[in-house]
Amino acid sequence: MLRRETQGLVSYHFNSFDEKLIKHAVYTRLGGESEGAYRWLNLGGTNGDKPEHVYQNHLKLFSNFGRPFESRYDVWQVHGDTIRFTESPRPESQKHQPADGIFTQNPEVTLIMRFADCVPLFFHDPVEKVVGLVHAGWQGTLLQIGSVAVKAIAEHYGSKAENLKVGIGPSICGKCYQIGEEVRQKFLRSWGEAAETFIHKLDGNYSLDLWLANEWVLRNAGVQQIEQSHICTAENLHEWYSYRKEKGLTGRFAALIALAK
Ligand SMILES: [Zn+2]
Repeated sequence: MLRRETQGLVSYHFNSFDEKLIKHAVYTRLGGESEGAYRWLNLGGTNGDKPEHVYQNHLKLFSNFGRPFESRYDVWQVHGDTIRFTESPRPESQKHQPADGIFTQNPEVTLIMRFADCVPLFFHDPVEKVVGLVHAGWQGTLLQIGSVAVKAIAEHYGSKAENLKVGIGPSICGKCYQIGEEVRQKFLRSWGEAAETFIHKLDGNYSLDLWLANEWVLRNAGVQQIEQSHICTAENLHEWYSYRKEKGLTGRFAALIALAK
């Protein structure tokens, strides 16, 4: 990914995405108003941070991204596999709808999701002119939400898997993400022996490689153009929030995508 620093905020961008066709970024925690465990650019509104700081951070974020705050569409991320399509921003008066995948064809809409270790998947279909974001923690990965999304946009927009570009963003790596026996069993039951490829025993504990698991899911769904960020949130706390490493007391960083106007 390319690293950029502008107006005090630091963002990363996939090399394979065409910046003439789309705008996208994943923002680090640097440069916001939040303090303490939430320092600095926390975009999470339900983790205990001061609402006025979170609001200021949103304004700063959208200004830096070059889109109006009113263009945003976001959802209540619930670790499921529901995909939503929107052709308009979320009005202030409308509650967040539960979903873990959001897609649009409208260049007036800016999609935003929040992360701290879970895997952000960025989608672009340059042929049908569709962009999207997917939130894949272990539960979404187990449900193969990447593949659910590929099928959903094929049905809704006519997107072909071979035309899709997908970026796998900053998240916890396969060395850092330890899981218990219960989670391991769930993967083995659901995925069979493929699960053994992503779950390894390190120093007596099992760890799950969400990066490779999501790439496997996407390739099985027919996606060929995939870029891995290879940035581990848990190993880079100076730039990222890590729910696991910071023991739940932390902020959320933002992933944004929109079609170019
Ligand atoms: Zn790591």
